[in-house]
Amino acid sequence: MSDSVAGGEILAPYAARDDRSRGRRYPEPKPEFRTEYQRDRDRIIHSNAFRRLVYKTQVFVNHEGDLYRTRVTHSIEVAQIARSVARALGVNEALTEAICLAHDLGHTPFGHAGQDALNECMRPYGGFEHNLQSLRVVDELEERYAEFPGLNLTFECREGILKHCSARAARDLGEVGERFLKRTQPGLEAQIANVADEIAYNNHDVDDGIRAQLVDLGELGETRLFRRQLEIVTAKYPGLGERRLIHEVIRRMINHIVVDLIRTSQAHLEAARPASIDEVRSQPKPLIALSEAAREEHAELMQFLRERLYRHYKVLRMTSKARRVLKELFEAFLTDIQLMPPEHREAAARGETSQGTAGRARAVADYIAGMTDRYAILEHRRLFDPAERT
Ligand code: MG
Repeated sequence: MSDSVAGGEILAPYAARDDRSRGRRYPEPKPEFRTEYQRDRDRIIHSNAFRRLVYKTQVFVNHEGDLYRTRVTHSIEVAQIARSVARALGVNEALTEAICLAHDLGHTPFGHAGQDALNECMRPYGGFEHNLQSLRVVDELEERYAEFPGLNLTFECREGILKHCSARAARDLGEVGERFLKRTQPGLEAQIANVADEIAYNNHDVDDGIRAQLVDLGELGETRLFRRQLEIVTAKYPGLGERRLIHEVIRRMINHIVVDLIRTSQAHLEAARPASIDEVRSQPKPLIALSEAAREEHAELMQFLRERLYRHYKVLRMTSKARRVLKELFEAFLTDIQLMPPEHREAAARGETSQGTAGRARAVADYIAGMTDRYAILEHRRLFDPAERT
């Protein structure tokens, strides 16, 4: 099956296409009834790491309430937004979806607090970056297939998962790291996933923040994006109940930004006229972008969330607890790898043999990064609470 006509849609010349893929690290026969990128997406959905996202935090720790976003609902919302954009621009929808569903696979428990804590612990051993870890999950850590490690995804999908990366890390990654050294762009599918990620979390964090009563409508009205839609909805539906009002405002905010993204990117594509994905890669800047005005308003909302939500004392209390949990787990395991379950202990011993302490530390970081919020809390209790069963 060729995907120049993927799912009945005609792909634009600048879209990623099966027949021009840079391929998989371990060559495999073509799938019969799916495209290569559909196969990537399906492998991601069936992975262990994807299922663990159910119990990983976005902003609020998983046990705080059933309605808050988790990494899995976040990833699905990112994919939903990105697929709409991909379809409108005639690029590869299955690849876009695959990148979105995989983009957070390497996330630690406890959201950004967890990432920062693990990065601090790993600083003497090469650091920890969740984005790089997502690639490590799909390339190395998933153990499912007889003939290769990881999920053996296509180059285009791996390129999209690796959103950013230091020059030092890029040098060790071979082909997929090259663009960070040559300063070229990834395919449009990856660029769309990247912006869709920001659109999704900005909007759902507003919703979650209101639900948690950490921010209210009055405060949010300080941002232009929110205020404009709030005024439209309250004028059109006076007396609308609060839950519906909030949803109406948020869905209109998402629509406003997505429409801007599609129109602006369309104009960039018309001006640049890339004839292939390689011509997309060699552009000086990403072609998928918001207009200047929308970018500014989006940044204003992001700044608002940073100050009022992510640094709210109730969120900070949770993140400080999370940081302590991860650091204590890391120190305990690094000091005595015998405390880890057998497969992780063996990985740490292998790491030690090949790369000394840095190799041992990497295996400990892999174990911790793979934990869900609740598993990390339980492991911490098992290690430090004498009354807890081990
Ligand atoms: Mg994300």
